[in-house]
Amino acid sequence: MTGGETGPSPRLLIVGPPGAGKGTQATQIAETLGVPAISTGDIFRANVRDETELGVKVKTIMDAGDYVPDSLTNELVSDRLDQSDAAQGFLLDGYPRTLQQVGFLDDYLSGKGQALEAVILLVADRDEIVERLRKRALDQGRSDDTEDAIRHRQDVYLRETAPLLESYRSRGLVVEVDGLGTIEQVAERIDAALGERGFRSTAAAS
Ligand code: ADP
Repeated sequence: MTGGETGPSPRLLIVGPPGAGKGTQATQIAETLGVPAISTGDIFRANVRDETELGVKVKTIMDAGDYVPDSLTNELVSDRLDQSDAAQGFLLDGYPRTLQQVGFLDDYLSGKGQALEAVILLVADRDEIVERLRKRALDQGRSDDTEDAIRHRQDVYLRETAPLLESYRSRGLVVEVDGLGTIEQVAERIDAALGERGFRSTAAAS
């Protein structure tokens, strides 16, 4: 009811495989919609870099490639979403990553009389992504980015996102967008898909 005259508040998630340019797209979509892009990975990395109390706690976990405990991650996200710039919407990237986090976010939002509006899922053929990343590794001389390592990260991504997507699919929230193409092409597809769901860019709304 509130804010009905400007359409739904864009409370969104973006999910996509490593190498699909998700961060770039997230920044761009968020800007178009006039909401903050919130990446838990970026926030954790900034805390590690600045050696904050949180950063000191999570550094060894992140260095080992493990997940930060749900309790810490949930607290970080709810603190961030409590800030005023997220009151009219947000685009979360890298969160939720576990079913416990999915439940926490649902409860957090429903406590405010809010709900997620859509989950943008960038889809891309695994072999094509592997080929792209392999080329990039060659061009940039990143010898640690072997085809095996790249394939492994894709497999981990698919395995870990499957249960989350199942939960969001059953609620009809998932919006699939072809993630292969130039940054502009993918951005246009996301824009069109969100437009179909009633989300307008701030430029058009005001
Ligand atoms: P990737 O390096 O896989 O792209 P991110 O940049 O999103 O991942 O996150 C980097 C690291 O931050 C993760 O490996 C993890 O340790 C931590 N992290 C980020 N988001 C979460 C989350 N939702 N739950 C737990 N840990 C997280």
